[in-house]
Amino acid sequence: MHNLIHLAIPAFLLLLIAEAVAGAVMRRDLYEWKDTAASLTMGVGNVLIALFSKAMVFAIFTVVHPYAIFKNIGYQWWAWGLLFFAEDLTYYAFHRTSHECRFFWASHVIHHSSQRYNLGTALRQTWTGSFASFIFCLWLPLIGFQPMMILTMQAISLLYQFWIHTELVRRMGPLEKVLNTPSHHRVHHASNDPYLDRNHAGTLIVWDRLFGTFEPEDPENPPLYGLTKNINSYNPLRIAFHEWADIVHDLRGARSWAERWSCVFGRPGLKYERQDALLRDAEIGVS
Ligand SMILES: [Zn+2]
Ligand SMILES: [Zn+2]
Repeated sequence: MHNLIHLAIPAFLLLLIAEAVAGAVMRRDLYEWKDTAASLTMGVGNVLIALFSKAMVFAIFTVVHPYAIFKNIGYQWWAWGLLFFAEDLTYYAFHRTSHECRFFWASHVIHHSSQRYNLGTALRQTWTGSFASFIFCLWLPLIGFQPMMILTMQAISLLYQFWIHTELVRRMGPLEKVLNTPSHHRVHHASNDPYLDRNHAGTLIVWDRLFGTFEPEDPENPPLYGLTKNINSYNPLRIAFHEWADIVHDLRGARSWAERWSCVFGRPGLKYERQDALLRDAEIGVS
């Protein structure tokens, strides 16, 4: 079976060029070539690494599948329907955890490190995440879904998420209620209040509405894209590994096992909050 992502690469590039041209015609400041070059480099790296990580995940799913609860699900049409919802819910759980646990954030931060929001940002993908994210999906082969079906559904979800990385589509009427749209995902990429860590959806926005992480885009409060502390770098190695390096640095300075645990598995940004609190305390102390 062909890799859907590989087949889509020419379409990704054509749409990216179309958006850049449309942006230039409309005199919108959508693209910055250094930023786009960095995003494309991350995308190429991700595709190359996925040659290994996908084979690894497929092997793990295949090893697990004989222990499934339901052994005869096969490739029937209703199984695809069920898997669509199961995979999308799993993606929500994985993506939300990627924002709430630093170990997963260290891989996911890559996708959020651009201060631009365009189809190039969609291709700014992790180099390390694919080796850990499958943990969230292990229940799918254990239910009885075929390993190849699961990988295909994951690819479809990733393909869907490409086109929503645009500022050129404003609102999509009633579809906003059900689907993850450009508007909802702009909120997800914003670092300003009240947008931070909201709208973790893959294809369906209903999970965010259901679990209390939904925030609509407010035209009066435009999203500020990027991180709360931006890395200001176009170096692919720094983009890929900066949070891992920070974790190692913080671990070296940690004085207790509780602190070490929180360095790796605590909330991302906790360190900055502590530093800000210390600074505030110091200012209060001085005045
Ligand atoms: Zn995210
Ligand atoms: Zn995104």
